[in-house]
Amino acid sequence: MNLTHAQAALKKYFGYESFRPLQAEIIQAVFDKRDALVLMPTGGGKSICFQVPAVTMEGVAVVVSPLIALMKDQVEGLSANGIPAAFINSSITGEQIRNVENALLAGYVKLLYVSPEKLVSQGFQPLLKRLKINLFAIDEAHCISSWGHDFRPEYTQLRFLKEQFPEVPLIALTATADKLTRKDIVEQLQLRNPATFIASFDRPNISLQVRPGQKRFEQIVEFLKKHPKQSGIIYCLSRKGCEGLADKLNAKGFKAAYYHAEVPATLRSKVQEDFINDRTPVICATIAFGMGIDKSNVRFVIHYNLPRNLEGYYQEIGRGGRDGLPAEALLFFSYADVTSYREMFEQSEASDEQKELKIAKLNRMYQFAEAPVCRRKTVLYYFGETYDRSCGNCDVCQNPPQQFDGTVAAQKALSAIIRTQEKVGMSLLIDILRGSQRREVFENKWHEIKTYGAGKEYTYEDWLFLISQMLHVGLVEIAYDDHSHLKVTEEGRKTLYEGKKIKLALPQPKAKAEERHPRMQEKSKTQLFKEELFDRLTMLRRTVAQQQGVPPYLIFSDATLLDMADKRPLTDADLMAVSGVGERKLQLYGDAFIEEIRKFVREKAGEGARVTGSTQLVTWDLFKKGHLIEEIAEIRGVSTLTVVSHIATMYERGEMLDIAEWVSPEECDIIQGALPLFEEPYPMKAIYEHFDERYNYDKIRFAIADARRRK
Ligand code: ADP
Ligand code: ZN
Repeated sequence: MNLTHAQAALKKYFGYESFRPLQAEIIQAVFDKRDALVLMPTGGGKSICFQVPAVTMEGVAVVVSPLIALMKDQVEGLSANGIPAAFINSSITGEQIRNVENALLAGYVKLLYVSPEKLVSQGFQPLLKRLKINLFAIDEAHCISSWGHDFRPEYTQLRFLKEQFPEVPLIALTATADKLTRKDIVEQLQLRNPATFIASFDRPNISLQVRPGQKRFEQIVEFLKKHPKQSGIIYCLSRKGCEGLADKLNAKGFKAAYYHAEVPATLRSKVQEDFINDRTPVICATIAFGMGIDKSNVRFVIHYNLPRNLEGYYQEIGRGGRDGLPAEALLFFSYADVTSYREMFEQSEASDEQKELKIAKLNRMYQFAEAPVCRRKTVLYYFGETYDRSCGNCDVCQNPPQQFDGTVAAQKALSAIIRTQEKVGMSLLIDILRGSQRREVFENKWHEIKTYGAGKEYTYEDWLFLISQMLHVGLVEIAYDDHSHLKVTEEGRKTLYEGKKIKLALPQPKAKAEERHPRMQEKSKTQLFKEELFDRLTMLRRTVAQQQGVPPYLIFSDATLLDMADKRPLTDADLMAVSGVGERKLQLYGDAFIEEIRKFVREKAGEGARVTGSTQLVTWDLFKKGHLIEEIAEIRGVSTLTVVSHIATMYERGEMLDIAEWVSPEECDIIQGALPLFEEPYPMKAIYEHFDERYNYDKIRFAIADARRRK
């Protein structure tokens, strides 16, 4: 087996033109029978790395996956692409298992998905020994590590695979990056000199936006208005939060459901199904939601509350845009979230060491939200990647903060902290600076201090922004062990007493920030056509999915529909050129989708719009109805030569037609024999003269169409 086979399989089964970064190298490693460790972000395309070898090599690939729901999904997806696959786990009956076993032993199955507990069970060993296994793929391999967040004890028993099947290549795949986990995977699975592949964790199609959490409900309503009909997840910290938000959104006329661990199991799976099948677009959920959901067209992920660490944040937003199309990640943060987490951590049973680690990670999370630095740069840096440019697709890049001499502003805040004997927290400090009438201010006689009301030039939010920066640059710190009061550091004293200069990012006036965003451009006609057709194809997909009882994205992904709306394929051959259309799907759904596109093109042409391909199609329709060439020329007001060339084009693009009516097989051979003397686009006149006018233009046109069609 070599990469040419792999490439052909990628096209044939999955309909993709080329491999993504590292996929080819990983597949080559499998062909070379090497063990491999693969780190790729969610949506990076891990599945292809074992699915393509599985279909090209003899025997069956065994895939270990911890998520039962995902297994079913993957097997359905493979079947939809014409790849025989099956799964065995606790969700299926004894009889079903026997059917799968028979199919396996008969050599019908190319991929077998198994849960780890099944794979390691005694009962399963005899079957395993009788199979011709070409590859083991351990998905979500980080579950093996007790350091990770999804530790699964059964995974640790998988070490027997290398003992029992030393010659079968094993590939471990995960989206969790840290070094400790990586080392654990290699050691526990006993990988031998594994080839390690670490893909970039960048997800350039996800736009990263971070906003302060004030009025977040209003902000979410605005956001949803701008994203009608799109699927998205809103993560909330608490169960109550999920329910409350879903209720409020429904009251505003959005269709939203909630999901958390305490929702009864049946209802949970209904919520999940409705989301997957595009029936409920918005889910308000705790982080319990998402694992095991393979939906590729999640267009946005909103964090209503700050996630507890960057790993979680990145994993959650990674559920957006798996189809590679633009997706948005919107994070709201507030200091109150940090405080609630800290309380949660403090009250937990964890060891001091673990608590400290959690708090450190939480602080990094908060810093990420606070720091006016390219978000992508910050988060990739956290995962150990250098990213030495600005991404252009995050709020900071799109709206770069302006630096100003913040010394005076900082001094005001620092002085107020000192004058209140360092006994105030963030919010009270700001109230003092802004001269608030709050009761605590008067009770403590803080309205008498010199800095009371000295910071009226900034809004409450501005001050939050400025003081947070002071925290990052180390002018102040928060005494978590003392009611989260602010304390002035050594550095802070230098600024306060010695006037040491400090640069801060200027708070952005709200309206101005909006203004800076590029104005929505007038949409071109092409763009409008594309959107309209995309909507129609989406509707068709939904109908087809309902008939077949599968989620819409298993029919075609959004990316595929978008490519279709762009290319407007009118024939099978055209459709094959669309990304994500393999042989099987062409067979199953090709006609329906082509017919819809043709209908669209005819309608548009009927309305007098100029649509590429429409003129050939109109000619073709008339021809199919039995009109003669001359009649068509008459009806359409074009020359017969043009009519013939339209028909030849349709033939070239894959329509069935007996061309012997125009050119005999012998003549066709002769003309085609001369084509290498010329170059595309073939010059009709020169070819005509080359044969001393022996073959007329129609013959030449059809010989060329036939040659192109064969290509
Ligand atoms: P992961 O398992 O790493 O989260 P998937 O394997 O589900 O990611 O792939 C994510 C999406 O990318 C899927 O829709 C998949 O079909 C698509 N994809 C994978 N490889 C390619 C490729 N070479 N070309 C185009 N799309 C691809
Ligand atoms: Zn950026």
